[in-house]
Amino acid sequence: MKKIAITTLAATALLFGVNGATAAEEKYVTIGTGGQTGVYYVVGQSICKLVNRGEKEHGIKCTAPSTGGSVANLNAIRAGEQDMGVAQSDQQYKALNGQGDFEAAGPFKELRAVFSVHPESFTVVARKDSGIKTFDDLKGKRVNIGNPGSGQRATIEALMKEKGWDTSVFKLASELKAAEQAQALCDNKIDAMVYVVGHPNGSIQEAASSCESIVVPVDGPAVDKLVEQFPYYATSVIPGGMYQGTDKDTPTFGVMATFVSSTKTPDGTIYEVVKAVFDNFDRFKKLHPAFANLDPKRMMKAGLSAPLHDGAVKYYKEKGWM
Ligand code: GLU
Repeated sequence: MKKIAITTLAATALLFGVNGATAAEEKYVTIGTGGQTGVYYVVGQSICKLVNRGEKEHGIKCTAPSTGGSVANLNAIRAGEQDMGVAQSDQQYKALNGQGDFEAAGPFKELRAVFSVHPESFTVVARKDSGIKTFDDLKGKRVNIGNPGSGQRATIEALMKEKGWDTSVFKLASELKAAEQAQALCDNKIDAMVYVVGHPNGSIQEAASSCESIVVPVDGPAVDKLVEQFPYYATSVIPGGMYQGTDKDTPTFGVMATFVSSTKTPDGTIYEVVKAVFDNFDRFKKLHPAFANLDPKRMMKAGLSAPLHDGAVKYYKEKGWM
C-alpha cells in the first residue's frame, strides 16, 4: 500500500516536473515550403521530422506547412510569419538585393542563407496534341504561368522579360498552383505547365503518365543570356527516360533550392536545425530521390548569395568545414 502511494507520488512529481519544464522551454518554429506535390514540401517535412526527434533535448517543435512557394516564403520570413523557408537561389538573390518581386520592399538585409539543397530545373510540360515542341511554341497557347508567390512564376517572368514577351503572347495565362496543374493539363484546360522543381517529381510524373505529354526544351539565346548574366542560373538537363513520353535528355536551365532564414531567428534554433540535418544526413538523403547526390560541403556554398546564418556557421565550424 505504502509502496504504491510513493510510486504514484513520484510519478506525479515526474509528470509535473516534465510538463513544467517542457512548457517553459518549448519553442515552435515553422518552415515555409511549396505545393504538396513538390519537393520543397518534402524538404520541410524531412527537416522537421529530424528536428522533432530531438525535441526532448532542445525543446524545438517544428512544422512545415504547404505554401505558395519561394517568393511567398521569403516575404513571410521578412514579415516574421515564418522562421525559415525554402527558396530558389534566384529569388534569394533578388530578395537580398530588392529586385524583381522584391523591388517595392527594398533589400532584405536580414536575410540569411542556411544551406542549399537540390538543383531545380525550369520544366515545361506540354500536351502532345498541342504541337508545342520548343519554349517559343508557347506563343498563342494556353499556359499555366503559376500562382503569384511561386518560384516558377518569378522565373518565367524573368525569361519572358529577356525575350521581350508579356502575358499577352499567350492565348491564356492561367495562375493555377503547382499542385493543380498536372490535372488541368490532362483535363485539356491548358496546353502547357511550367514548374521549377527538382527531379524526379511526382507532379511531372502525373502529367507524363495520366495523358500524352512531353517535356519541352528551354534553350536558345535568351536562356544563354540569362545564364551568362546571372550567377544563380545554370544550364541543366532533365534526363531522358525519367518521364513517360520523353526518352531523350531535355536541355533547359535551372537554379538551386536553398534553405533560408533571417537574423530574427535565434542562432540556437538554426544551430539545432542544421545539426539535426547533418548529424542524420544519410537518413535525410533517403527521404527524396532528388536528394540522392547531395554533398554537405557543397550545400554550404552552392547557390547562396545571402550571408550564412551565425547558427549555421557555428555548426560548420565545429565540423571543420570552414
Ligand atoms: N521552385 C518552386 C517554387 O519556388 C517550388 C518547387 C517545389 O515545391 O519543389 O515555388
